[in-house]
Amino acid sequence: MASKIPTRLYLSEDEIPKYWYNIRADMKNKPEPLLHPGTLKPAVAADLQAVFCKEPVKQELDETTRLVPIPEGIQEFYKAYRPAALVRAYFLEKTLGTPAEIYYKFEGTNTSGSHKLNSAGPQAHYAKEEGIRSLTTETGAGQWGTAMAMAAAFYGLDLTVYMVKVSCEQKPGRKALIETYGANLIASPSETTASGKAILAAAPDTGGSLGCAISEAIEKAAKTENCRYVLGSVLNHVTLHQSIIGQEAKAALDKYGVKPDIVIGCAGGGSNLSGLIAPFMGEKLAGKSNARFIAVEPASCPTFTRGRYAYDFGDSAKTTPLMKMMTLGSGFVPSGSHAGGLRYHGMNNALSKLYKDGYIEARAEKQTDVFEAAVMFMKLEGILPAPESSHAIKAAIDEALECKRTGEKKVILFGLSGTGYFDLSAYTAFNNKTMSDHIPSDEELERGFATIPDIAL
Ligand SMILES: *Cc1c(COP(=O)(O)O)cnc(C)c1O
Repeated sequence: MASKIPTRLYLSEDEIPKYWYNIRADMKNKPEPLLHPGTLKPAVAADLQAVFCKEPVKQELDETTRLVPIPEGIQEFYKAYRPAALVRAYFLEKTLGTPAEIYYKFEGTNTSGSHKLNSAGPQAHYAKEEGIRSLTTETGAGQWGTAMAMAAAFYGLDLTVYMVKVSCEQKPGRKALIETYGANLIASPSETTASGKAILAAAPDTGGSLGCAISEAIEKAAKTENCRYVLGSVLNHVTLHQSIIGQEAKAALDKYGVKPDIVIGCAGGGSNLSGLIAPFMGEKLAGKSNARFIAVEPASCPTFTRGRYAYDFGDSAKTTPLMKMMTLGSGFVPSGSHAGGLRYHGMNNALSKLYKDGYIEARAEKQTDVFEAAVMFMKLEGILPAPESSHAIKAAIDEALECKRTGEKKVILFGLSGTGYFDLSAYTAFNNKTMSDHIPSDEELERGFATIPDIAL
């Protein structure tokens, strides 16, 4: 029997939501405040405005406004590539033989290839409004750097991207794209900052790290006139912008009267997961839904499943405010993995709080299993998924198979955060069977935990 639900659940341009949703407003137990690392007092706007733009800082500290109007200039920006497709995975359902309905929200159709553009645009917009002329940022795998380069070009701002040196070498396509959009790309560590010089002096052959690139970008912003720093994940203003994913998904599902029972996303710093689940979690917090929420992370960087809930720094140079979050320690160095966007030691603090309070489940997956799920998905649904996003695919397939076992007809929604076109070397490794699965030992994790500051809060 043909179902009434189409393969693509369209929204018109006019139906793109005009509000971001701030999940913290509906949390009875708020996340712990950010702390100034010197005074250990809650960070105030003035502390954060030294490096960030004013409006994002306001959003970062705002725990009470539920619905934040999306400024018209940003609505215009979103129209260039939104709404993002919400797709019923009929082919996957059929092959799995599951009674479950599976839907995915695909954020990979813009040129930068991921959901990160949803926050890059707003951050560039606010900088422009504030009269800022240049921005700095870091990028590991390259997705954020690309998104920011696109947004900076759109709003006519100068951008310097500190890209982790090994990534520059491994992902020349990303580097080319970032430079083509007009950004100044610097391999990190570099001689352009004191923190970069110090690291190079100690380890001249280092391939760099995300923590080091963050330190360089922050230092550059602080020392350059009329320049600010932008960050692509972890912080609450970023998750606020990403709520456009969930707002759109909910608007499209509501049109067809569909309510998800299980919402799944991959988790690096938590921004796409937080954005997707936001409005559905809001209903759960209000007692109006029994939905389950699943965060999927790599077994090589198990922040939720094996991390600690503690105050920690966002970067290894210990320059950021302290955040109470699930963390492996800012000194934890995850092994090389093809899901570069998920190699982060910490997690958004509101998501961490929801996890601690039992609202979110988490699981860790091995990369070979994740790629197996990715290949099954691409053959059936036609989309080449990013390695990061494929973690969510793996969990969605497992949940659908569980429904097959129990005969339950659940509705599963997962986030497909990006495309895998820049990750073909990862697929080559999978095809050649040269891909390995590194799961850190307890001793390796202990070395990371030892870098968590000793603060009894
Ligand atoms: C950056 C990235 C992620 C991880 O970041 P979050 O902040 O956890 O969303 C996931 N998927 C893709 C495609 C990414 O580029």
